[in-house]
This record gives sequence, C-alpha cells and structure tokens, in this order.
Amino acid sequence: MTKGNGEDPKTGSRMERIQQGVRKRTLLAKKKVQSITKDDVKSYLLRNAFVLFTVVAVIVGIILGFSLRSYKMSYREVKYFSFPGELLMRMLQMLVLPLIVSSLVTGIAALDSKASGKMGVRAVVYYMSTTIIAVLIGIIIVVIIHPGKGTKENMHREGKIVQVTAADAFLDLIRYAPLGILFLIAGKIVEMEDMGVIGGQLAMYTVTVIIGLLIHAVIVLPLLYFLITRKNPWVFIGGLIQALVTALGTSSSSATLPVTFKCLEEINGVDKRVTRFVLPVGATINMDGTALYEALAAIFIAQVNNFDLNFGQIITISITATAASIGAAGIPQAGLVTMVIVLTSVGLPTDDITLIIAVDWFLDRLRTTTNVLGDSIGAGIVEHLSRHELKNRDAEMGNSVIEENEMKKPYQLISQENESEKPLDSETKM
Ligand code: ASP
Repeated sequence: MTKGNGEDPKTGSRMERIQQGVRKRTLLAKKKVQSITKDDVKSYLLRNAFVLFTVVAVIVGIILGFSLRSYKMSYREVKYFSFPGELLMRMLQMLVLPLIVSSLVTGIAALDSKASGKMGVRAVVYYMSTTIIAVLIGIIIVVIIHPGKGTKENMHREGKIVQVTAADAFLDLIRYAPLGILFLIAGKIVEMEDMGVIGGQLAMYTVTVIIGLLIHAVIVLPLLYFLITRKNPWVFIGGLIQALVTALGTSSSSATLPVTFKCLEEINGVDKRVTRFVLPVGATINMDGTALYEALAAIFIAQVNNFDLNFGQIITISITATAASIGAAGIPQAGLVTMVIVLTSVGLPTDDITLIIAVDWFLDRLRTTTNVLGDSIGAGIVEHLSRHELKNRDAEMGNSVIEENEMKKPYQLISQENESEKPLDSETKM
C-alpha cells in the first residue's frame, strides 16, 4: 500500500525516523561543541598545566632577560640572578645517575636476552643511521651556505676566567632545591655578550646551524618515524613538548632525561621496557644535534681560515664528528669540548673554538633539543619494531603491556607533581 503521494507509509516513517535521528545527533554534537568551550577547555588546561607553565616560563624568561639587559648588571649580579635556574639544573642532574642505572637494570631485567639483544641492535642501527644523516646534513648545509666567507681577523673571540668567592661556596651549599627554567633562560640572556660582537660571519654561522638542525628535526626524524611506524609523527612529537622545552631550558639531555621518561611513558604510552632500555643509552651516545653541529662548526672554522678541505678531510670530519658526538656527555656545551677531536683530526687550530663561543650557549640549547627529539623518536621506532617480541614476552609472562591502563590515563597535574620518581619504581609489578 502506498500513500497518496506514492510513498510507502512504512518507508516514509522510517525516513522520518532517520531524519529525526540525524537532527538529534546534530543537536547533541552542537551541545558537545558548546561544552568544549567551557568544561573541556578548563580540564584541558588543567591536564596540560605543567606543559603550558614550562612554555610560559621560557617566554617570560626571554622577555625578562631582554628587559634586564639595559640595567647592565655585573657578572656577579647575573650569577645571583640566575641562581634559581642553577638550582633546577643541579636537581635534575642529581636524578640522572640513579635514573640511568636503575632504569637500565629494570629495563634489561624485564626482557629475555634474545629480546634485549634484538632491541639493542635496532637501537644502535637507529642511532648510527640518524647520526650519520645529521652529519651529512651539517656538511652539505655549511658547504652550500658557506658562512665562513672572509677572514677571521675581524671576528670576536671570547673566553674568561672568574675568581671563586666565599659567596659561591655558600650557594654551592644550597644547590639541592628546585626552581625554574625561567631564571636559567633569563640569566643567560642577561649574561649574553652585546649583539654587536656577533658579526656577519657568526650570524650566518648561527643561521646555518639553525637551518641544519631544523631540517633534521622537522623533516628527517618525523619522516623516518612515519615511514617506519605509519603513525602521525606530530602527535608523537606533541606529547614530547615538555621534554623539548626542558632541553631548551637546560641545554642538557641528561638533565632532561627524567622529563623525557615521563613524556614518553605517560603521554605517548611507549612501553616502559623499551624506554628504560633505550633512553638512558640514547641520552648518552645518540646526539644527532651535536653531530650535525660538530661537523658544521669544524668546516666553518676551516672556511674562516681559508683552509681548503679535500674530500678525504671531509670524510675524516664526518667520522670524527660522529665519534665526538658519541663521546660528548649530555651536559651543557659538552659538544664544544669534544670538538677539539674533530679540529685536530684535520689540522685546524683548536684555538679557533673561541670564535664560536659567543653563540654557543644559544646553539647548544637547539642541538640539545634535537638530541632529545632524536632519542625519543628512536624509542618510538624501536618499540614499533620490537612489538612482536614484546607481545610474546607478555604472553609468556601472562602480563599485558606494563600498566597499560595507567598509561592511558589522562596526563594529570597531580601525577606530575607527586610522582617524579615513578619511572623508577613502578616496574616492580613485573
Ligand atoms: N648539551 C648537549 C646535550 O646535553 C651536548 C652538546 O653540547 O652538544 O645534549
């Protein structure tokens, strides 16, 4: 039977029901969108308060640093001003050694020797290939841009030795307490040499390093992550913001390690057996940013000396830059020290390191951030490649991926504040 308009009444009412359903869902969706602006934004801000706070601290630190520069503080005053920042550094550094040792022990203990062997090989292959790519990017960029055009005669040299006083010894006594990235950055900016001394060549050198690091961090590493895991690298990198900002603030991949653990395990949900095994080693030997920088800086010094490098010497620089980055500790400006190896390997004057010291505090922050990104993406890739072994191991032990539920928990402010040692002790369930 059909209606007067030729429509089957059954079909008609079904159509109406469908339309009503669509209307209802649209209304619900609209309501949801409306509530996003209130509750969701609030809870989002609350959940990400720590990350936002860190980012704001960096911004305030930069503004404060630049506004205080006009006061022409003495060297000692600057040291006092940046003291809270130094406290934070010391505190983070204090965590590093126990964190590395205990996480390696628990990480390896959670895997059988076959699985840890395979994972180790994957990590080393990743470290070596990304480091070599970074070195090549550094060499290609510095050869193309050629920032060292001209001579070094009108370049500024820097380096000073300051007397230790009783006040220093006193400050040493209370260096256990926590305080902020804000002062670390503001202090550095106040302390910074007058921009005038950063002449044309040094400015070009800085830009060249930045371009090289950006190519590696924004193109190469995310692409590698995508090609291997087929997952969105930007979501993964988004979860690392706090670690990246801490690296930027502290210039130390070792000091950032506790935060890197937190971001990878709690936000990105990377298996703890992987992070504990891969991260401590990565933070110590995998330094893409440092490798890129060492090769680039050595060739820059050759350029300002009008020293023509042949192909063999460029190969030597790539090998020694790789070795020097592996040898560099994850502490501020360690790369500058190990650069002596690269320079001496091709007979360049080691004294010329003083030419680039003026901008190194800044470039160090950027290469440290790249180093931390490289380690973290490495953990994500190794986890993906080792997923079968990890699953087998789970089945054998009747254990699902460690504390899976907990990792899926929203990133809570409370957990951020109260559980700074969580990466160390939560493995005991195994
Ligand atoms: N500061 C860097 C790091 O800790 C090392 C370097 O100086 O390049 O990763």
